[in-house]
Amino acid sequence: MIDPYKIRKDFPMFVNKVKMQNHNLVFLDNASTTFKPQCVLDAINQYYGFETSNSHRGDYDLCNHADELIKSTRRLVAEFIGANPNECIFTTGTTNSLNLIAYGYARKYLTKDDEILISVEEHASNSLPWFEVAKEIGCKISYIELDKEGRITLEKVKKAINEHTKLMSFAQVSNVMGYEVDVKAITEYAHSKGVIVSLDGAQSIPHNKINVKELDIDFLSFSAHKMCGPTGVGVLYGKKELLEKMKPVFVGGGNNVTFSPEHTVTYLEVPHIFEAGTLNIEGILAFKAAIEYINKIGIENIHEYEQYLRKYAMKRMLEVEDIIIYNPNAEAGIITFNLKKVFAQDLGTYLNSKGIAVRTGQHCAKMLPLFLGTPATVRVSLYFYTTKEDIDLLVETLKTGGNFLDAYFA
Ligand code: PMP
Repeated sequence: MIDPYKIRKDFPMFVNKVKMQNHNLVFLDNASTTFKPQCVLDAINQYYGFETSNSHRGDYDLCNHADELIKSTRRLVAEFIGANPNECIFTTGTTNSLNLIAYGYARKYLTKDDEILISVEEHASNSLPWFEVAKEIGCKISYIELDKEGRITLEKVKKAINEHTKLMSFAQVSNVMGYEVDVKAITEYAHSKGVIVSLDGAQSIPHNKINVKELDIDFLSFSAHKMCGPTGVGVLYGKKELLEKMKPVFVGGGNNVTFSPEHTVTYLEVPHIFEAGTLNIEGILAFKAAIEYINKIGIENIHEYEQYLRKYAMKRMLEVEDIIIYNPNAEAGIITFNLKKVFAQDLGTYLNSKGIAVRTGQHCAKMLPLFLGTPATVRVSLYFYTTKEDIDLLVETLKTGGNFLDAYFA
């Protein structure tokens, strides 16, 4: 089993004993972003201190070296998700990847009689691109009904898919509910009905072993910063035959072979056709270090530890009087709750005053509050460096809210 105390020695945010409101920081907002190990910081310094050059731009050693590093990162990313390297496009993150599918694929191939299927628990980044493209095409957005617990199930998907459904997009793990969706079964059914499957992996790839070929999904989007990597980098995986059909949304340097005054353009092949402009080289190289780090720890070990910690957290949090937990049976390390009669943001502010960082509000899933029956919630999210002590501090702080929280019971 992972020892989070040992692991913390790798993370400057812990080594530097960062404080919040004069308390040792208790960071329980890992679904939002994660801390970076020293090796990720070192990769950034290495590039700027010793390896700076553009990629795909020159014939000198430094430039070729940058090309090689990017290539090897692409191979590593591909290996991490069970894909081929030329099916992995570097983007700026999940949001960018999902927009690329919406504008590069859906806008080109869907018509006004078609339907795009999502759910009300999707993140803004997996809702708004579809809304915008649907508006342009004049097609319909339809919704998978959630089950009583708030899950997307095969049964509900079967009910939602009809002869107009052409594409569906859903999160493998919801960033609010933490439920893990049976992607394989749903994809198999969707494909039997000719529906393309786009998976939002922002909350699953950092925690679970995923193989895109086994799941047979058509597209996968995820971000480096939620898996110990830097911000501003992400991946779009797509089946090669689909990527080859897609339109490049951004065009310019680095994505073409040739162009003329008559506007004839020959574009590069997949994946480079989707990577116009100078890449976030620093970010890509730091992402490589992050994946190597995660591989060293072992993604299965990360998953196992989070399962163990979630069980512990659930048990301890249920000790808190007046707690409402919205996802007691979730698989992922995300626990979403409220205290009766305390507004989520007030609780978040109180926890902040004790050095505890949690996320409050609607967590970018702004269609979900209607289902939950509350305008806002508090979210605790774990990673493999979270300790039982962090959970204990949270629970003790919730239990001893004292005068501050009592004010709301008046
Ligand atoms: N989808 C989900 C489920 C998320 O949790 C997030 C990030 N909170 C995103 C998409 C967007 O990710 P990014 O901001 O890294 O593009």
